[in-house]
Amino acid sequence: MSGRAVGNTFQDAVRQAIQRARQRGVLYSVSTRAEVLRDAGVPFLVRVVTASRDVGRGPTAHSASNATAAGTSDALAMAAQAATSHTSERAFRNPFLPYDPEMHVADVPPERVCLLNKFPVVDGHLLIVTRLFQEQTSLLQVEDFAGLWHCLRQYPGLAFYNSGKVAGASQRHRHLQLIPVTPESDIPIDAVMRQAAGRREEASGCFQVAAFPFLHAAVWTAEVTAARREADISTGAELHAQYLKLLWHVAEQAGAHRFGERDVSGDVKEAQPFPYNLLLTPSWMLLVPRRLEACHGINVNALGFAGYLLAKTTEQLEYLRRRGALHVLSQVAFEAASAAESCAQSR
Ligand code: AMP
Repeated sequence: MSGRAVGNTFQDAVRQAIQRARQRGVLYSVSTRAEVLRDAGVPFLVRVVTASRDVGRGPTAHSASNATAAGTSDALAMAAQAATSHTSERAFRNPFLPYDPEMHVADVPPERVCLLNKFPVVDGHLLIVTRLFQEQTSLLQVEDFAGLWHCLRQYPGLAFYNSGKVAGASQRHRHLQLIPVTPESDIPIDAVMRQAAGRREEASGCFQVAAFPFLHAAVWTAEVTAARREADISTGAELHAQYLKLLWHVAEQAGAHRFGERDVSGDVKEAQPFPYNLLLTPSWMLLVPRRLEACHGINVNALGFAGYLLAKTTEQLEYLRRRGALHVLSQVAFEAASAAESCAQSR
């Protein structure tokens, strides 16, 4: 996490919540070691789960150092057990309603709450959940972006969203996520995103990354987020509009006919046109439609498209080394293919 920001009460709240949760032993981390794999010039930080007896013997390059007495296998089993919300209606247990008070970080306007992730992938992994139940597979609303921006502007990081089971979500109750980013732990794809953004279409800010072999669309958000930093609702509304533009763009490319123009500009509470991952920093937003949860047993969520992958076994790591991370990502997404028109053409 970044250094102490004087007067940043949100960061203080995160720190205090982590301290409290650690003292009570209610955070469960998976111990990993990290390795960087490059594929077509894109760096990927691959974390490999280490043996359970390694847990608690100090931090790894990118893993949370706050492992409790529970071993890695215990933490994985508990996380898997907690992830029952999609398995069947009968097994539906919602960890966010009510949420665990020990995970509470801050109330987030409008009508959201920020929680510690009980099974963090890095120190300071946060969730922003709706106070009332909303489906993870419904389209995001202005309020989701307003709440997200409220946190992101005070807590520099990477925000992400897994829009349902196929996109890597384990919970049905709406939750966006935030991991901290420091200059020392930069987002792996940040450099290629910035480079590609240099060739963005001028009016819309849309762009694509040439090295990504899967269907995606990105937009440059720096002007929007810099303009009115503390106006959460109006910034949220602008980010929401960008999100709809990206959805509409990839929907057209993927031939998702159920997602017509009227739907985008009309009732935004309807179901999403397809599963997707969304990534957001103050500078850019990336959207990737999804067709599969995993490739070769390697589960991929939004973080995979940011350049963070998790190999549960050395065999999976070997597969990633052999086939390349971009191969795995393209298997769980759609082919970029012929559909790669510019955003400008789709408007
Ligand atoms: P996802 O798997 O992307 O749907 O994100 C849901 C996250 O919720 C997972 O990363 C879990 O670690 C986390 N989680 C599960 N149960 C709880 C809980 N009781 N409190 C806080 N976080 C939780």
